[in-house]
Amino acid sequence: MDIKKLIRPNILALTPYSSARDEFTEIAEVYIDANENPFENGVNRYPDPYQMQVKNRLSEIKGIPTENMLIGNGSDEVLDLIFRVFCEPKQDNIISHNPSYGMYPVLCEVNDVELRKVNLEEGFILNAEEIINASDERTKIFFICSPNNPSGNLLQEEAITKVLESKKGIVVIDEAYIDFAHANSWITKLKQYSNLIVCQTLSKAWGLAGLRVGMCYASKEIITILNAIKPPYNVNELSQQRALEALNNKDEFDKHLATIMEEKDKMESALAKIELIEKIHPSDANFLLVKVPNANALYEFLLEHKIIVRNRTKEYLCKDCIRITIGTPEENVKLIEGIKAFK
Ligand SMILES: *Cc1c(COP(=O)(O)O)cnc(C)c1O
Repeated sequence: MDIKKLIRPNILALTPYSSARDEFTEIAEVYIDANENPFENGVNRYPDPYQMQVKNRLSEIKGIPTENMLIGNGSDEVLDLIFRVFCEPKQDNIISHNPSYGMYPVLCEVNDVELRKVNLEEGFILNAEEIINASDERTKIFFICSPNNPSGNLLQEEAITKVLESKKGIVVIDEAYIDFAHANSWITKLKQYSNLIVCQTLSKAWGLAGLRVGMCYASKEIITILNAIKPPYNVNELSQQRALEALNNKDEFDKHLATIMEEKDKMESALAKIELIEKIHPSDANFLLVKVPNANALYEFLLEHKIIVRNRTKEYLCKDCIRITIGTPEENVKLIEGIKAFK
């Protein structure tokens, strides 16, 4: 597939900003090339623009070469970079399914790109034909969120494959919740599909939402062009250090992940026993979408008891649903007690 045809002409033509750290990458004795303050305080130097230590460690964990990775200031930055590489404002469109992550419509507004929403079927099922039929010659990207937020389920592998194989555009699979899922990441298919971009994040299972570190994995061609437009020092020094520390402490990651999964099971059984709960949607994420008779009333009631859940009642297929994140064991007990107290 000719990816270049999908890239905006001005982006293909641009000369990237070349930072001092780009031009000289060896180890030197004297660093007086970047107008930094020379007095050491841990952050007086600009950070590595390509975050190589973090990428090397990610490469070991994910089994993906570093040249197939880009790291952003949260996946929100990564998604924005993808928009700006491919979508010509006022001309191009992107396609996403409905319901899905709330950032895609915002990015469309900000970048002045048309959003074509295709409704999921009952049970949050992706219909590949409908998604493909919604596209035209100005479609640049299909955004697929799997496991999906707010529904929590993995979207169907067969349907996603059809969208990839239609070759109607770039397919971005947002895998913010993949670590909680009983499925392989789509990063295993990168070699097979040149139009595939997989986004992940350290914000959820890795427990580092405050750091703002998001990743994307794609062909070297796509990564090169994303690197060309990203702000040079987009991931700050402290975030790189803390990200590396966390990635080097896989035991803690595994331990917390196991606890969250156990707590999710407990929460599901506890909710299933409550008469008020009409449905618990199947979830491959760290949250549960739960249907009740009156989501607004329950939401307000919990709020009065200082418990905040996400009211998703206005979303398509989510009428009277609240989204509950799995918290600490203590928080989860409070939530269950709170719901039980609701009359
Ligand atoms: C939470 C979430 C993200 C994470 O965004 P960051 O900017 O990396 O914190 C991305 N996509 C989806 C669908 C999410 O729910």
